[in-house]
Amino acid sequence: MRPSDLDPLFASARSLPGVGPRMAQTLARLLSREKAEDVRIIHLLLHLPHAVIDRSTILPIARLPRSPGAVVTVRGHVLEHREVPRGARTPWRVLLSDDSGVLELVYFHPRPDYLRRILPVGEERIVSGRLEWFDDKPQMPHPDHVVTEEAFAALPRLEPVYPLTAGISNKVLGRIMRAALKRLPDLPEWLDEHLRAREGWPAFAEALRQVHAPENAESLAPDSPARLRLAYDELLANQLALALVRRHIRSARGRRLTGDGTLVAKVQATLPYTLTEGQRKALAEILADMAGPERMLRLLQGDVGSGKTVVALLAMVAAVEAGAQAALMAPSDILARQHLASIAPLAKQAGIETVLLTAREKGKARKQALADIASGRAGIVIGTHALFQEDVTFADLGLVVVDEQHRFGVHQRLALQAKGARTDLLVMTATPIPRTLALTVYGDLEVSRLLEKPAGRQPVKTSVMPIARIPEVIVRLKTAVAAGAQAYWVCPLVEESGVLPTTAAEERFAMLKEHFGTQVGLVHGRMSGEARDAVMDAFRAGDIRVLVATTVIEVGVDVPSATIMIIENAERFGLAQLHQLRGRVGRGSKPSSCLLLYRPPLTETARQRLKVMRETDDGFAIAEADLRLRGAGELLGTRQSGMPQFRMADMVRHARLLEMARDDAALILARDPKLESPRGAALKRLLYLFERDEAIRLLLAG
Ligand code: ADP
Ligand code: MG
Repeated sequence: MRPSDLDPLFASARSLPGVGPRMAQTLARLLSREKAEDVRIIHLLLHLPHAVIDRSTILPIARLPRSPGAVVTVRGHVLEHREVPRGARTPWRVLLSDDSGVLELVYFHPRPDYLRRILPVGEERIVSGRLEWFDDKPQMPHPDHVVTEEAFAALPRLEPVYPLTAGISNKVLGRIMRAALKRLPDLPEWLDEHLRAREGWPAFAEALRQVHAPENAESLAPDSPARLRLAYDELLANQLALALVRRHIRSARGRRLTGDGTLVAKVQATLPYTLTEGQRKALAEILADMAGPERMLRLLQGDVGSGKTVVALLAMVAAVEAGAQAALMAPSDILARQHLASIAPLAKQAGIETVLLTAREKGKARKQALADIASGRAGIVIGTHALFQEDVTFADLGLVVVDEQHRFGVHQRLALQAKGARTDLLVMTATPIPRTLALTVYGDLEVSRLLEKPAGRQPVKTSVMPIARIPEVIVRLKTAVAAGAQAYWVCPLVEESGVLPTTAAEERFAMLKEHFGTQVGLVHGRMSGEARDAVMDAFRAGDIRVLVATTVIEVGVDVPSATIMIIENAERFGLAQLHQLRGRVGRGSKPSSCLLLYRPPLTETARQRLKVMRETDDGFAIAEADLRLRGAGELLGTRQSGMPQFRMADMVRHARLLEMARDDAALILARDPKLESPRGAALKRLLYLFERDEAIRLLLAG
């Protein structure tokens, strides 16, 4: 299916010189690919440099810039080697002099033969690298390049600097990139020629060449024609794919889901509280959509703790009342189980059966669940990704609710919707998504917002403390626990190689056990599901009073009796994540507190983040601060989320392009619905290049 002129770009990175199995692993890590085999040449080429080193000017040593860390190039004669024995702690130094002064090249863990060979005493060499000053003398630790005049002539004067990962240097990656560039074919143009001419953009292949092999430093600027072109390509691929998805969803006719309101009223009557104004309004909007002839595509947005779940529950009850089934999809099985625990008893009051289906339901339990789903006995089905497996068949699925949507991708949503011919879709999210971002993920969903929190909530008191004060924290926690409080203690994932991600939590657990004995529990992602359930149940029941956890509890966990949240290494978390975590407390009417422990020294950004957390608990304000501090690309912690990860486009700098791309996509599909024209065929290539080719299936389907 994929046009064959793309083959060179989809060849494995292994086919490049210098990329063996080890390097392929490293590249996979660098490019966030699961497996080394998944790394294609196109993925490399879409990994853009973030800076450029200019080696075109050779400076006299006496005139080297004083600013620390500048990358400089110097020509000089090798004066002498200040050798040290193998294994010495002090570095090996090589003195290089020109007419104006002396530069020290500094090598730790030196390889003597190699150094003597590349820097023969008395000969001239050109060296380039990062400059440091020590005792007012210039030094260059481990120069990037040590070359003869001849070899220097062959080096690119402008060297792109790439984001790197352990195990690969910029020099090596640069070499691989240059090899990858050679494989780049010229492709038919998919942009409108008028647009391209007006904006002065180069062709796709040319744009990639300009950023990977820059001829001037400007071509890497975010607003260079090359960068704008690539950003636009990426946004257009995204918008085109979304438009196809949307068209596909809308093309199927909806159905009217209406009942007489009795079941909804019954469930509502059993709630221990009354709905807030916002909940009532959101529910009314949802029910109106469901009753309409079109398919519902609605986003329910509300800050953590605003009470989205009960709105979803009532919508699901309404679907059942109308004679259909409803499914609720959660991002983790802890959450699915929690929803089951809170929803099943309420649904039962109205005579509705609720079943659970996650990857953990196996054997007989799974068979029973599948049978209940297929026969329609299960009115409400709660689950995880497992809901979109092929052997899951619904009798008549009318409504799909997706909780904490940002964890799911568009294709997963599609797969689930395919389970019901004309299902309505409700997406719940705690993330206040700015409009530009919303456009990239959802296109044009309708939005209901829960602006206020249920009455009686008290703001969470947040404080910030260095980790050295842990002993004091434990003393205070003991007092609180003795008085009946329950606490979460969150440890971050430690990603340094060789350390298991759960070690931090396990160590903290062991330490807290000495103080709290059996009252402390541990949950993390590597435990078996049963073990995790047992711990969560014990925490819910109050038998466990201090729950040490990794971020598995980040999203959605609801234990209203817990009032203390302690987050260790808080400086490592993003704002959105901290807000989510803090949202686990302050859910009941008792006052709650959140303690952010950090390990100094703090970066300026981390300091700002902690300050924001201390000053506000308004999700919208926090999202805005996040946008300001991190740039939109990272907002929402896109890595673990289903948000599209833009590599070329920057949501802040390229917002104008996004609007353009959206209009462009709409126009393209209006003129050429099946992408059959020559430009349409070129656009299909674009979808492949940016991994939006799932959308091509929809062209055939609908
Ligand atoms: P979120 O929007 O973060 O998913 P939840 O749906 O988990 O929030 O609700 C948070 C808590 O608020 C739950 O314990 C829920 O029972 C409670 N709650 C929801 N609606 C109301 C309400 N109208 N009045 C009082 N408590 C409510
Ligand atoms: Mg929730």
